[in-house]
Amino acid sequence: MAWFNLLGREACRWTGLGLDLLCPPHCVFCGSEAVDQETGDGVLPGPGTPVVCATCAAALSHDVPRCPACGEPDMGGACRHCPGEARDWDGMLVLASYADEVRDAVILAKRPGGEARAAGLAALLVRKHAATFAEWRIDVVSPVPMHWMRRAARGTSAADELARGVAAGLRLPYRRLLRRRRATPMQNELPFAARRGNVRDAFRAAGRAAGRRVLIVDDVTTTGATLAECRRALVAAGAAAVFAAAVARADRGAGSPS
Ligand SMILES: [Zn+2]
Ligand SMILES: [Zn+2]
Repeated sequence: MAWFNLLGREACRWTGLGLDLLCPPHCVFCGSEAVDQETGDGVLPGPGTPVVCATCAAALSHDVPRCPACGEPDMGGACRHCPGEARDWDGMLVLASYADEVRDAVILAKRPGGEARAAGLAALLVRKHAATFAEWRIDVVSPVPMHWMRRAARGTSAADELARGVAAGLRLPYRRLLRRRRATPMQNELPFAARRGNVRDAFRAAGRAAGRRVLIVDDVTTTGATLAECRRALVAAGAAAVFAAAVARADRGAGSPS
């Protein structure tokens, strides 16, 4: 009976027992019980060991090839965005393009109660790019900050939850190294050309960044303007290197967020 299953699933969620005979683990995205009980396939490292079934993992991790330096789609050969450009970061990784299942998953992860989905997305991001994250020799993971007023109104910040999940998956410390100086209009409400100006000087370093290799995490990026400003603030505070990771990249022209 569907209502019984639903009740059972909610009860399991609230008890937080996760792996338990009475509460078999359900995929945080589709709710299926598609976890291999013997191998544990589907259980990913992260806060609360998020469970993601193989079907959702494949759908959410699927992406076009990208340049690991700038995150733009890789057309083969040398990246046409990178040569001669002052870099906005020392490397950028994304889980997938902002479309279809990924868009739905990000929207649900941002809602109150979406923490398990955020942990699932963070765990998929870590798993997909484990080798590159290791090469980057990161010291600390930090979220793109949300202004305290907006955070108070929403009760949650997707970037915080994602950064926490990425830090746990990489077994690295999580620190909020940045603060917003001021509330800014949402990047996705502005034309591309106005986005860099909108976040200019919007951040300041608020924790110890000097000499550290920092990974900043956001949910969705388009122009990269927000991540670039975060990097500026961290470099001004003495960070040795600043890398960026986002769950989704809305490629320009595809019409979406920051
Ligand atoms: Zn699933
Ligand atoms: Zn590039």
